[in-house]
Amino acid sequence: MNIHEYQSKAILKNFGAPVSEGRPALTVEEAVIAAKMLPGPVYVVKSQIHAGGRGKGKFKELPANAKGGVRLAKSIDEVAAYAREMLGHTLVTAQTGPAGKQVNRLYIEDGCDIEKEFYLSMLVDRETSRVAFVVSTEGGMDIEKVAHDTPDKIATFSVDSATGVMAHHGRAVARALGLKGDIARQAEKLAAQLYNAFVRTDMAMLEINPLVATKQGELKCLDAKISFDSNALYRHPDLVKLRDLTEEDQKEIEASKYDLNYIALEGTIGCMVNGAGLAMATMDIIKLYGATPANFLDVGGGATKEKVAAAFKIITSDPQVKGILVNIFGGIMRCDVVAEGVVAAAREVGLTVPLVVRLEGTNVELGKKIIKGSGLNVVSADNLDDAAQKIVKATRKEAA
Ligand code: GDP
Ligand code: MG
Repeated sequence: MNIHEYQSKAILKNFGAPVSEGRPALTVEEAVIAAKMLPGPVYVVKSQIHAGGRGKGKFKELPANAKGGVRLAKSIDEVAAYAREMLGHTLVTAQTGPAGKQVNRLYIEDGCDIEKEFYLSMLVDRETSRVAFVVSTEGGMDIEKVAHDTPDKIATFSVDSATGVMAHHGRAVARALGLKGDIARQAEKLAAQLYNAFVRTDMAMLEINPLVATKQGELKCLDAKISFDSNALYRHPDLVKLRDLTEEDQKEIEASKYDLNYIALEGTIGCMVNGAGLAMATMDIIKLYGATPANFLDVGGGATKEKVAAAFKIITSDPQVKGILVNIFGGIMRCDVVAEGVVAAAREVGLTVPLVVRLEGTNVELGKKIIKGSGLNVVSADNLDDAAQKIVKATRKEAA
């Protein structure tokens, strides 16, 4: 689960980490009120969307030379003007995809004088099974370029969970950032604060880019992006409340209601599969035959007819879907249950795109009979290879 920058900063602040003063705003009026409560004379107006790269982003509705989703305002009037330009408009960044994201809230922050920008992130390193720090002296808006061109400028080290964060980890962070004296002490302290925040709230990822040294000699977290481990959210009802459904894919929200493992993708072939491994293999083979999957979907092991029907409806609700491939290997899952679910859903929502079904395993004959007897226009396939070729061919024919 991802949250907004202003929410992330509130959490970091609770753990003692230095952040600028600021307030969220949903309207231009609220933005003005928020700015008036700050000392000034410089304010930062920040679009709150669940995607990075806002500073370099572009608003669809504004001229190409207009400034991006993070702007420095030198007066309250400028705050109002920028808020008006951002709210309700669509921000396209390197991370949103070409469709962009509508900006529904802003964060109005006290502007600070930046001396230098650093990069600091934390994540669960699967290789060492530890929480790792990733730091670089080259922070700011081009960290992806740094990682690509000069990876040696990025330092990584992990923390043994048996000891937790220790003084030497803090010193390692300060050293990697090239800091000395008082500001190095601040970095040491920050490393411990961030580690505690990370572990106690079950984060999966924390990224501070930029972490800055101000002209006044203070270290500050100027941006903050947090992603929580969804499997641990049951321990944090207070964090679940921070979820912003308007930032999430409608189809993914619907899928989570039915406990379906669904991830929307960019392609045109909707996939309904049981088992994550089989789902991955199905996506691969679709690619092999020259098309791209519209989603990852694992209906799980013992899905009911209702769950299968819900999954099918989610797939058909995607206007990008030009064909559907159902690939089920029935073990605990019975093929007749899948067939009933697919038929029920197809009858309810109507089937407007080609559908290829490959069933194998428990009750396969009964499953095939149900599909055949449904009168729906379904192409059946004997194996995965056959199924993939048939659906790719069918969508091509449809497009021609
Ligand atoms: P992102 O583009 O989505 O990563 O958004 P950031 O929060 O990182 O903001 C983008 C850039 O705006 C930062 O890298 C800074 O250079 C700049 N910025 C943000 N806050 C301030 C501020 O208080 N003062 C100044 N001078 N620049 C800021
Ligand atoms: Mg940033």
